[in-house]
Amino acid sequence: MIKPRRVLIVGGGSSGWMAAAYLDAVLNHDGQSVADIGLIESPDVPRIGVGEATIPSINHILAAIGIDENEFLKRVDGTFKQAIKYVNWLDGRGESYYHAFGRYRPSPVDTSSQDWLMSDRSIPFSETISAQPVICESCLAPKMLGQWDMGTRLTYAFHMNALGFADYLCELATSRGVKHYSDHVVDVEMAENGDIAAVHTRAGKRLEADLFIDCTGFAGLLIEKKLGVDWIDCSQWLLCDRALTIQVPYEHNYPGYVRPNTLATAVSAGWIWEIPLQNRRAWGYVHASDFVSEDDAEKELRAFVGTPADDLPARLVPFKVGYRAKAWVRNCIAIGLSAGFIEPLESTGLYMSDLATVMLTEYFPYHDDMAPLAFRYNRIIANRFHEILDFINLHYCLTRRTDTGFWREVRKPARMTDRLRAKLDFWRSKPPSAADFEDQWFPGQPDTPLPPGNLPGDHRSPIDTADVFGIDSYEAILYGMDFLNAECSDWFGESRPQTRIAKTIAERLALAPRKLPPHDLWLTRVLGMPDYPAAPRKSG
Ligand SMILES: Cc1cc2nc3c(=O)[nH]c(=O)nc-3n(C[C@H](O)[C@H](O)[C@H](O)COP(=O)(O)OP(=O)(O)OC[C@H]3O[C@@H](n4cnc5c(N)ncnc54)[C@H](O)[C@@H]3O)c2cc1C
Repeated sequence: MIKPRRVLIVGGGSSGWMAAAYLDAVLNHDGQSVADIGLIESPDVPRIGVGEATIPSINHILAAIGIDENEFLKRVDGTFKQAIKYVNWLDGRGESYYHAFGRYRPSPVDTSSQDWLMSDRSIPFSETISAQPVICESCLAPKMLGQWDMGTRLTYAFHMNALGFADYLCELATSRGVKHYSDHVVDVEMAENGDIAAVHTRAGKRLEADLFIDCTGFAGLLIEKKLGVDWIDCSQWLLCDRALTIQVPYEHNYPGYVRPNTLATAVSAGWIWEIPLQNRRAWGYVHASDFVSEDDAEKELRAFVGTPADDLPARLVPFKVGYRAKAWVRNCIAIGLSAGFIEPLESTGLYMSDLATVMLTEYFPYHDDMAPLAFRYNRIIANRFHEILDFINLHYCLTRRTDTGFWREVRKPARMTDRLRAKLDFWRSKPPSAADFEDQWFPGQPDTPLPPGNLPGDHRSPIDTADVFGIDSYEAILYGMDFLNAECSDWFGESRPQTRIAKTIAERLALAPRKLPPHDLWLTRVLGMPDYPAAPRKSG
């Protein structure tokens, strides 16, 4: 019999329960118990209750835990997400672009980006490389009602109820043997060697473990309050520090459709998300408190949502942007908001918890000498935070908006990371291509080392490994934000051929309205979403 390692997860938000369910599914399969897992969550500290949009990597974690997709969607009031639509980010005059999850790649050579750059750009770039922008505009589901017969499947993620997700994972994990303590941690006991020995609870329990996972959200109860690990602040590059949210139940107002994408609309001091579920729509105004007061932000959000928000409460969710200098120290690993957060624009919060958990199963400490494991783990996590930081930064810094102090500020060179500036400078001499993501060190990029640690190489600057946001994602944002427009005129002349859509995409779009049902119809037929009466549409 293998002697199981004792793992105690402190915190029962989405990250805590994702870690519990995934570690249990991957480490304790086929009757073998490698990890003896417990989770303690405070009945007094609520979960953050946001984190409702995901990216396609969620499919892997659901599959690994053994979750059926339809059952999952029913339990979390879930809907499909095929893309993010960005409105008003460039000029603030109603323009928009899509960052779609799926991309068509012609073979044997994909020249679609060059073809678009050499064309008159009369069709948005995203529509030339994916059918999903038009499918989203038509509010169609990414799945058929019957057997799929449309060729390559469409890539999707989900919108879901965050609290429902954690509850569902809790139910699954505890039914499979994960221990659940509803109690408040009041003290953390240290061992003589500097490891955490145990946590003490308000009910008088002393819980020991070999490995502690800090999932206490921004509180960072173990990693920060006890172990004193620094938080690397990134607010210089991303100015938003809080969100105001409003949820509108469909009983109150149902618009008559369910968008199969997230909407991110730039407004005076940040941006507003719109996320549809099976029973409600949620809006969140992510804003910078230095540029708009809470009262004014609420007025702006209510004006944006309109009458559906009347009489419904708004909730303020403060956040900080940055990441832990080291997510894994001694026998403690921070996962979730305690490890870092790079604002919600591309829905990367849950992805980072997912990545951290998946990596932990690979780097699982079967012995007490955890330092070499922690060293590499920390480097990979730091790289990923930098990758996300640069990519989110990109959304803001190419704006042409000057209408408010916020937009004038985000355009300033000091608000762009050095790495991103180096990339953009390079790409002004040659459009981005796949090979650029093989080595992310561009001319002009300064060396910004991490604080030195105890192992050789600890000080190395993080690099962007382009694992989650590579060439496809960069091109979607860059060309959506009109990058290289002037350069293309210089390089290829003013009079260029009309933009064309690849035959494969045109064929798929011709089939889509016949084959793909409206998103709400799919949800009603397959999942049993109620048939809400639509609010009367305003004319005009
Ligand atoms: C405004 C905003 C929008 C976001 N939108 C998205 C999105 O669209 N997509 C996405 O992927 N991510 C998003 N995120 C990130 C996402 O919300 C988080 O990554 C996710 O919810 C995980 O949170 P968590 O579990 O780390 O923390 P929390 O949900 O805060 O959970 C903390 C847990 O710790 C427990 N705890 C605290 N103190 C104690 C104690 N003393 N004793 C015992 N237990 C304790 C609490 O009871 C709770 O269970 C967003 C974040 C913000 C701020």
